Amino acid sequence: MDALTAGLSLIIGQFCIALVMVGAHFATRPERSTRYWALAAILVMAGVLMVVASRRFPLLQPIGSSCLVFGAVLQLSGLQAFYNMRPGRLEWVIGSVACVSFFVLVAADAQIYLHLIVFAVANLALFAMSCRVLLAGIRFRWTFASVLTVGAVLLLMSNNIIRIVLAITRNPDLVVTQSPMGIATLYLVPLGGVFLYATGLLLLYFERLVDDKNHLATHDDLTGLLNRRAIVFAGEREVAAAIRHRQPLTVAFVDIDFLKRVNDSLGHEAGDQLITDVAKLLSTACRNIDLVGRYGGDEFCLVFPCADSDSAVLMGERLVKAVRQYSFRDQHRLTLSIGFASLPRDGDQSWASLIHRADLALYDAKAQGRDTFCIAPPQVQEPL
Ligand code: GH3
Ligand code: MG
Repeated sequence: MDALTAGLSLIIGQFCIALVMVGAHFATRPERSTRYWALAAILVMAGVLMVVASRRFPLLQPIGSSCLVFGAVLQLSGLQAFYNMRPGRLEWVIGSVACVSFFVLVAADAQIYLHLIVFAVANLALFAMSCRVLLAGIRFRWTFASVLTVGAVLLLMSNNIIRIVLAITRNPDLVVTQSPMGIATLYLVPLGGVFLYATGLLLLYFERLVDDKNHLATHDDLTGLLNRRAIVFAGEREVAAAIRHRQPLTVAFVDIDFLKRVNDSLGHEAGDQLITDVAKLLSTACRNIDLVGRYGGDEFCLVFPCADSDSAVLMGERLVKAVRQYSFRDQHRLTLSIGFASLPRDGDQSWASLIHRADLALYDAKAQGRDTFCIAPPQVQEPL
């Protein structure tokens, strides 16, 4: 491949990347990160175009190089916005210093190697900063997208290190770009790196969308606990596993006592706050393997794997005590009523009949004057 073909491939490749990033921006309008990435892709495309054309029009060299460096700056800003980090200043300083240097070097008619060193050092610094932001943002949660993005940044960093070494040793491959080494270093590896980087960023964005969607579908807005659908789904799975492995399992229904009074006297916001506080109390009091969900209104559903009715007594005492020690806004006492039901030792029982028994036990607790817990008798009472 000669330099002209490689240069044209780079321009076409960059044009496609810019088109995809601009499309991603229009598809996700309010996002700051995709806006930065689209601008970065346009700048890089313009930069590549000018750098390739500068073989004919040398004055385009410093402008094109500046576009490429500021493209890397914008890519980094997009990453910071994506991970909700504070925008930095250092990258803009690096970009500005590099940009001024390009024009000074052209004015001083300096050797091309100096220009190449400044360009590669600035890019290396910017990609190293991007790598740092990426590693902090993904928190070592290695998914396909994060591996791809970090890999692409490392590839671009290595490319710039090689460029620096070649430029310092004044290797003619960098200037006489008909050589395979020069073509690979100046065109092919950067094209691959930038393409993988852009793809990685979009995949990271896509991964986050899917995570957010799954979280919204399975969690309660107010408390952050599992919502009704998710606790039922998880509870049914736990019951099936407990029956299969002949393990005990207990479920509980928890209801806040007299929440209406709090709503009426202190307002709905106070009622919401109380529900949130109870959710935290329940989560803190439960073990890591227990499931805690908001079933609806002021009612919570808890699932205790490997816990029989004896454990339910201990758990009931613990929950009632934890709530008694708490007072809402330091003056209002809060109490809960709880109904427990455990899987019978000797037989199958469906999730539906288990929670039906827990619900009946909750009614008993209310009937006994509230602020207490009841445990359902072992006999099966089928739902009405
Ligand atoms: P009880 O002791 O019998 O449980 O009395 P209660 O006042 O808690 O009444 P109940 O459990 O039957 O009804 C729940 C009430 O909780 C009804 C509604 O006013 C209130 N509530 C339900 N969901 C919410 C919510 O999301 N926010 C607030 N603030 N209140 C809610
Ligand atoms: Mg209630």
